[in-house]
Amino acid sequence: MLDWAQIDTVLLDMDGTLLDLHFDNHFWLEHLPLRWSEISGISLADAKAQLQSEYAELNGKIQWYCLDYWGERLQLPITELKREVMDKIQMRPDVPAFLTALKQSGRDIVLVTNAHPDSLSLKLERTDLAKYIDTLISTHEFGVTKESWALWQKLQQRLGFKNDTTLFVDDSLPILTAAQNFGIKHLLAVANPDSQQHARTINEFPAITDYTPLLQDILAHSKLRTTAN
Ligand SMILES: [Mg+2]
Repeated sequence: MLDWAQIDTVLLDMDGTLLDLHFDNHFWLEHLPLRWSEISGISLADAKAQLQSEYAELNGKIQWYCLDYWGERLQLPITELKREVMDKIQMRPDVPAFLTALKQSGRDIVLVTNAHPDSLSLKLERTDLAKYIDTLISTHEFGVTKESWALWQKLQQRLGFKNDTTLFVDDSLPILTAAQNFGIKHLLAVANPDSQQHARTINEFPAITDYTPLLQDILAHSKLRTTAN
C-alpha cells in the first residue's frame, strides 16, 4: 500500500488521525450549541442550526479553526467550555505503537495541525503526543490552513522535507488533495476518524482503519544506519 523504503519524513495530522475525532465532533456539534443556548437564552434547535450554517460557511478557512474567532463571535470562553468535556480527548488505540515504530525506524515525524495553538495545548495536556513527536506545528503560525498551497510552500521552507520522500497522513480528503496537488508523493487517509461513527469508503487515496498492519513494513525499512553499512 505504501512504499516505506522511500519514506524518510512523516507529516501527521492530529484530530481524527492521531486523536479520536469524537471529542471535536461532540464539542462543536453538541456541547457548544448547548452551552451557547443556555448562556444566551436562544433555543437549542436554533443554536444548532445557526452554528451548523456558520461552520459550513467557514469550512476549510482559518477562522473555522480559530478559537479567538469563535470566542468573539459567540462571546463565550471557548477553551473553558472545551475543558468541561475534555475527558473525551483520547488517542486512537492504535497510535502509540504506530508512533513508536516510526520513531524507532529513524524517520522524522512532524505534527501539522490546523488546530488553534490553544486547542493543541489542551490536547498535549490530555495526551502523550509530545512524548512521541518532537516537532509540533499549528498552521495558525503561518496564517493559512493545510487546504491551501501557500501553507505547503511555507511548511517546506521551514522543514526542508522532500516531496518524493514524504508521507502525509490526514483524515480530510480535501486536505489530502491539497497536499497531493502540491506534490507530496506518499499519502494516507484515515477512514474512521470518529470512534462513534462508521468507517467511510475511501477510493481516492490509500486508506487505513487501523495502523497496526503497517508496523512490520515500517520497521523492516528502517532509516537508521546499521554498523554493517
Ligand atoms: Mg483531521
